[in-house]
Amino acid sequence: MKKLVVLGAGESGVGTAILGKKEGYDVFVSDKGKITKEYKQVLINFDIQWEEQQHTESKIFDADVVMKSPGIPDNARLIIGLKSKKIPVLSEIEFASEFTSAVIVGITGSNGKTTTTMLTHYVLDNGGLSVNMGGNIGDSFAKQVAENNAPHYVLELSSFQLDGIREFAPHIAVLTNITPDHLDRYEYQFDKYIASKFRITMNQTADDYFIYDADDEVIIKHLDEHPVRSRLLPFSLKKKVVNGAYLEGEHINITIDNNKFIMPTSELALQGNHNVKNAMAAAMVAHLLKIRKTTIRESLENFHGVEHRLENVLKINNVQYINDSKATNVNATFYALDAMTSATVWIVGGVDKGNDYTELYSLVNEKVKAIICLGIDNTKIVNAFGNCVETIIETQSIKEAVHIAYKIAERNENVLLSPACASFDLFKNYEERGRQFKEAVREL
Ligand code: ADP
Repeated sequence: MKKLVVLGAGESGVGTAILGKKEGYDVFVSDKGKITKEYKQVLINFDIQWEEQQHTESKIFDADVVMKSPGIPDNARLIIGLKSKKIPVLSEIEFASEFTSAVIVGITGSNGKTTTTMLTHYVLDNGGLSVNMGGNIGDSFAKQVAENNAPHYVLELSSFQLDGIREFAPHIAVLTNITPDHLDRYEYQFDKYIASKFRITMNQTADDYFIYDADDEVIIKHLDEHPVRSRLLPFSLKKKVVNGAYLEGEHINITIDNNKFIMPTSELALQGNHNVKNAMAAAMVAHLLKIRKTTIRESLENFHGVEHRLENVLKINNVQYINDSKATNVNATFYALDAMTSATVWIVGGVDKGNDYTELYSLVNEKVKAIICLGIDNTKIVNAFGNCVETIIETQSIKEAVHIAYKIAERNENVLLSPACASFDLFKNYEERGRQFKEAVREL
């Protein structure tokens, strides 16, 4: 019996263990931390051996194959040891893809993965395809392959998932954009992070497709220097493309193999330029998978977005409150500010991941009437924007931030929470930050 060791008993680890067991592996799950009660119960139900708060090396080094959770860095001692012994260390995506012949749409990028994945799934599902969604969202891919496999998957893929692939080849790959993120895991070398994202194309053939943002200079440069085998379908807001999607006036124009498709941007349910791009990507995937044009149009008109991503919360006294708590980097916030069509009170701050705020200056000058800093240390924000706006106020309470915003904002203006920072100085995670914001707004 082949031995599978799973390192890390999170969603992807437990899913892999279930699939491994089903496929006849002798499975052992090892987690250096504590395993949650729910996951322990699952492992017990499936009669899978596990340990927590330790790694028993004798058992781990006995593996034929190891699946590593994305949270464990490649330079962890254990991983280096396994690799030196030539034991394959794979990601969940690689392991699970060996057991399904489904058509896979893989979506990666620094920002927009979740939105584009959910939007694409929504369109395909409306189009009548039997399609599952997984990766970094919801149930793990491996668990779905084990328990309710489908002929199509839309997978949200992080660079960490892609680092652990060998043969995984999505039929359609989408790369939304690349901006510096997670550099701590890539020896602070942006090139390594870029290469990691491009692994999504590494096993594609000339029968596959690569959909990407042609306005992203980082992507274009890498593509010039490292051509891919798959068929290119760029999307752009700035220039005309022959095969792919582009903006012409107020319309999205899609051409694939002379087959044309047009849709007005004003009808899109998700607003903002970044969402026009996400919609282009989703529409191209759907077009490639032969979904009817009317269904694609209707779906893009009806998809009302994902919680914590430019989410309209409430209108109070004609002031629109918007929750963009998921904006944990400058690029995401750039698009949030870009999407504002009237003066905005901007709530920003948290744990700075080495932010460079200069690219926000012109948008802030144009759109922001006041800044409310929400973080334990706001020095960098105050220094960066002190001269751009008249009002800049510091607070460490989201309730207070909302109350101050309420006093400052006037009719037809916006109050936008788009922090450009991680949340863990004041909150458990970005979801909690977003929920508390919404609660405070509803209590106004
Ligand atoms: P991810 O899963 O890659 O983190 P999300 O869809 O959760 O992406 O969105 C993260 C943040 O980025 C949100 O604030 C969202 O409004 C913003 N965003 C969404 N799509 C894009 C895009 N194409 N380019 C830049 N920012 C985007």
